[in-house]
Amino acid sequence: MACVLVVEDNTINLELVVALLEQEDCEVLVAETADEALSLAQTAHPDLILMDVQLPGMTGYEATHRLKADPATAPIPVVALTAQAMQGEEARAIEAGCAAYLAKPLDARVFRDILRRFLRGGKRDEPDAK
Ligand code: MN
Repeated sequence: MACVLVVEDNTINLELVVALLEQEDCEVLVAETADEALSLAQTAHPDLILMDVQLPGMTGYEATHRLKADPATAPIPVVALTAQAMQGEEARAIEAGCAAYLAKPLDARVFRDILRRFLRGGKRDEPDAK
């Protein structure tokens, strides 16, 4: 079972993401701050991290930068979650080391596509359905 760490300080968004992940049969870990996220990433080694970029204290981008700077956590793909459909946000996410970017409010179908892309774990023999 794939293990996904969700970093989100907003309860409503968190509940939505957790529900979507559970529908996909993922094991879900939750962090509400960047510090919790960094420590959980170290100890639990999730397969994927969904990172809200607006967190109290350290931002999601800074947390991602730190994850990527540590060889122990660098291989874990990080997908940024941001409420802002701001111009340049995707570039900021990629610059911080995120593998992809999801805009909130989340579209369930886009969310599942991203999830399957990153949890497929490099099984490249599987033809893409699209
Ligand atoms: Mn937030």
